[in-house]
Amino acid sequence: MADNKLQGEILDKRVACGVCAAPLDRVFLTAPAPDADGARRYTLFKCDGCGNTQLFPLPAAAENQDLYFKEYYGAAANSAQGLLKNLLMGVFMGQRVRAVTRGLPKGAAVLDYGCGNGDFVFAMRRAGYDCRGYDPNSPSDSEFINKDHGGRAYDLITLWHVFEHFNEPAAELLKIAALLKPGGKIFLAVPNFASLDARAGGEKWFHLDLPRHVFHYSPAGLDYLVRKTGLRVVKSATPCNWYAVFGMWQTLFNLSGCAMNVLYYTLKRGGRITRGQSVAVAFKDLLLHVVLGLPYFILSFALTFVISLFNRSGALEIICEKPRDAAHNTAV
Ligand SMILES: [Zn+2]
Repeated sequence: MADNKLQGEILDKRVACGVCAAPLDRVFLTAPAPDADGARRYTLFKCDGCGNTQLFPLPAAAENQDLYFKEYYGAAANSAQGLLKNLLMGVFMGQRVRAVTRGLPKGAAVLDYGCGNGDFVFAMRRAGYDCRGYDPNSPSDSEFINKDHGGRAYDLITLWHVFEHFNEPAAELLKIAALLKPGGKIFLAVPNFASLDARAGGEKWFHLDLPRHVFHYSPAGLDYLVRKTGLRVVKSATPCNWYAVFGMWQTLFNLSGCAMNVLYYTLKRGGRITRGQSVAVAFKDLLLHVVLGLPYFILSFALTFVISLFNRSGALEIICEKPRDAAHNTAV
């Protein structure tokens, strides 16, 4: 599994972990991008200092641009698949709203950082919050979705599966904290690299998503990073939510020989099958989904519920607070 040439190269360059600065010297796994043509494999290094994992080398900007093609943000609901997607997104978004609004007064100023097409922003607005979205690549032309930060101080900033995409997470976290009112909170949701499905799935894990996911965090590793930036950890959890259950469900299909993430792409990208897939393979995948769909879903739900009690579900959520004491606001 280990790529000796790359391992030598990284040692020569004395590359340090982007979270704790310990030397990165252990290849954890290599994997291709789940949806790209070609055989290029990306390499993830495990840091023995903080327990997080990091992609190295980083893909070139042009290549990364290609990997965020338009469907990454979801397809329009103009088909049966689109309608099913909208139904599922309604359930997902309701769960997300409940996860962040406990104790948050109605009308609070909220920013969804990296909001994509803005589904969460609109769900929060419907629930009575003054929510805006920030995403420089958003396809939305809504007045509530901006390509800058909106020039105001927020009570809460949410990052739904955005933080793992950042090349410099500590610097980004400090930049985001600067947009908060004193005492304001940041809600980070990332995939849990210490989850059972990550470990059992390996390169077939749904949430691995190299090279778009630059860092993968464990609960302890993310906790370490947040504290390092001077923020206070209010709560850290690995819930049994739809994100975790779906990740387990999709990983089981990936491990069963289906094309990588074919269920997800079919739902999210409005029917676009993995690039270059033949009709015979598509038929085999369809058959496996019809036969195994329900049993795998029940298994995924039951397993995720049990492992969430042991910090091993695929979803990792952390709430952190900007200290009211101004002296702490310039930490690190
Ligand atoms: Zn580290």
